[in-house]
Parts: sequence; structure tokens; C-alpha cells
Amino acid sequence: MEKILISSCLLGNQVRYDGGDNRLTESCIAKWQAQGRLCVICPEVSGGLPTPRAPAEQRGGQVITCDGQDVTAQFHLGANLALAVAQAEGVKMAILKARSPSCGSMRIYDGSFSRTLTDGDGLTAAALKQAGIRVFSELELDEAQLYLEQLDAECH
Ligand code: SF4
Repeated sequence: MEKILISSCLLGNQVRYDGGDNRLTESCIAKWQAQGRLCVICPEVSGGLPTPRAPAEQRGGQVITCDGQDVTAQFHLGANLALAVAQAEGVKMAILKARSPSCGSMRIYDGSFSRTLTDGDGLTAAALKQAGIRVFSELELDEAQLYLEQLDAECH
């Protein structure tokens, strides 16, 4: 059975920078959880950052908090640990929180802390993509379900 790496906050775990979560209530999530498909990771917490923590954004190859602290190393560590979990579990797809500097895919905040988006991937999303893992956001659950069906069909 194909497994799915998923951002911890999307399952309702309160690991977001402000201590909140981004719980998804779609029925596919509960189904995948009951099937034991989900590998849950919060790269920022795994990388050693506390919750709550200062919000951070990517800027010029670094990750900087809103108060100027360089947290690039913690973000890289979290990305590497997420990739290690994915590879250990044989994961071929991930569902990661949109716009996060770790988990965001295709569009992330631009480093100005003005809620302005720019093209780019979060560090974890980028590491997974480089390893050939297909990354979806929570805004692409329909596409993710179709891709999972394809993977399951290839297994049989
Ligand atoms: Fe959610 Fe990813 Fe941010 Fe952790 S790093 S709170 S899993 S978006």
C-alpha cells in the first residue's frame, strides 16, 4: 500500500509557528489515516525549532525570522529529516501545507513579511521533489487522490 508524507499541521497537530494548526476535514484524510498510509512530519519542529516560534520566510537562499534570526540550518535539517522519513517508508507522494517556507510548493512568501507570494518551493518540498517524490498541497487534494489511485493501480 502506497504511503503519503503529510504536514503535521494538516492533521490538526498544533505545530504551526503560532501554536495553531491547519486541520483538514476532507473525508479522504480520515480514510488515509485509518488505512495507515500517513507518515506525519513537521520539518520545522524536527529541525529543532520550538512551538510557538517567530514566523520565518526565505530570503536570498537563507531562511530568516521576522526578528532577523537566521534559521536556515534548522530548516535544512528538517528538510533532510523529512526526506529520510519519506525514503525509509518508500513514499512516492506528499501532501504539504501551501505557502510555508518549509512545506510550500510552487508559491511561497517572498521574504518581505508583507504576505507577498513569489514563485518557489519551501526547503522540504524542494528536497522531496529533487528526490522524485510528487508534492501536492492541501489545495490539490483532488489531484492527490487521482495520483494515489494511479500508484495503487501500478502496484497490482
Ligand atoms: Fe505545518 Fe510544515 Fe509549518 Fe510544520 S513546517 S507547521 S508541518 S507547514
